[in-house]
Amino acid sequence: MLDKAHGIEKNLVAWRRDFHMHPELGFHETRTSARVAEIASGFGCRIRRSVGRTGVLAELGQGSPIIALRADMDALPLQEANQVGYVSQNPGVMHACGHDSHTAMLLGVSALLSKEKFPGTVRFIFQPSEEVADNEGISGAPRMIADGAMQGVDLVIALHVDSSTPVGDIRVESGPASGGVDSWFATITGKGGHAAKPHETVDPFYISAHIIMALNSIFSRRISAFDPGVVSIGSLNGGFTQNVIPDYLEMTGTLRYTEARVREQIHSEITRAFELARTLGGGYELRFETGTPPMRNHPEAVNLICGVAGRLLGKEHVLSMEKDLGAEDFGCFSEIAPGAMFLLGTRIEGDERVGHNSYFDIDESALPIGSAILAECALQYLLGKV
Ligand SMILES: [Zn+2]
Ligand SMILES: [Zn+2]
Repeated sequence: MLDKAHGIEKNLVAWRRDFHMHPELGFHETRTSARVAEIASGFGCRIRRSVGRTGVLAELGQGSPIIALRADMDALPLQEANQVGYVSQNPGVMHACGHDSHTAMLLGVSALLSKEKFPGTVRFIFQPSEEVADNEGISGAPRMIADGAMQGVDLVIALHVDSSTPVGDIRVESGPASGGVDSWFATITGKGGHAAKPHETVDPFYISAHIIMALNSIFSRRISAFDPGVVSIGSLNGGFTQNVIPDYLEMTGTLRYTEARVREQIHSEITRAFELARTLGGGYELRFETGTPPMRNHPEAVNLICGVAGRLLGKEHVLSMEKDLGAEDFGCFSEIAPGAMFLLGTRIEGDERVGHNSYFDIDESALPIGSAILAECALQYLLGKV
């Protein structure tokens, strides 16, 4: 499969560069999804468009079992700083997370599998808006799921490029592989007045100092050291001028977790921290916004990926995961069917380009590797199920 994938390397690079030059933000992937539908239908896929707004479902084969392979298509609101021939043509928008290459690699899989015989169905999920939620707080994966993207799916697999891992290596591991995320929004209320007479006011800044300390103590003093998680403050806004104590100030932040039990505990500890406002004579309003669940890699999917990648690349090139609590809405898919996401090494040697940065880029020689692993996983899974 690796040889076959190298045979379409030119296409993979051309598609990736085309998407890279024409990046689109979440739920605005109209050009991208039109190109995806056009290319995939050229390989004989049945196509459903406008799934989860701007998503595309493509299928090869018939009946069950069904293995789903997912790629995300959206870009980030970032001005590209690279000086390359395929630089973004859309000012202020850039494929800085590698979703252009995910889309190209999955199209490559449809090309490879269009020439193979297999029982069951391969469903290609081209997902919009992994990076951002819409005005109802819902991102691309749950939107596509609501439109039936996971109906009948027995196993789901995805990859993400990884700029810190060399080309030819992948990373995958069972268990929690990314953090669940919720956002929180708070207003701390006091009583404004003259900055020279603070005793006549209820100073929301003074209150916020205590709350900030309490928030930062949640993971050192309230939650077990064996339960991973994070509480971070992302914004703190209030006041107008140097000699006025304002009535209120606003604070927002994020929380991360891997276990539902810990999530509940974090919510109640954040609420307790804000209760300090009452103790100190003020008040507060606090609202949580539910984000994506943690991504959990299922052993069945991980074993399949490890077996395939071990044979294609050599066992020593299948590495364990470097865990963090970054969010990834693939967790919504792998909540419904056993699933796993693996990291594909795309490091440019001697010149690491981290994601979500205006200098992000990948070593394109990884593209055929990604396509080959996904295609071979689909074949092995479906053939093994007969
Ligand atoms: Zn990203
Ligand atoms: Zn990403």
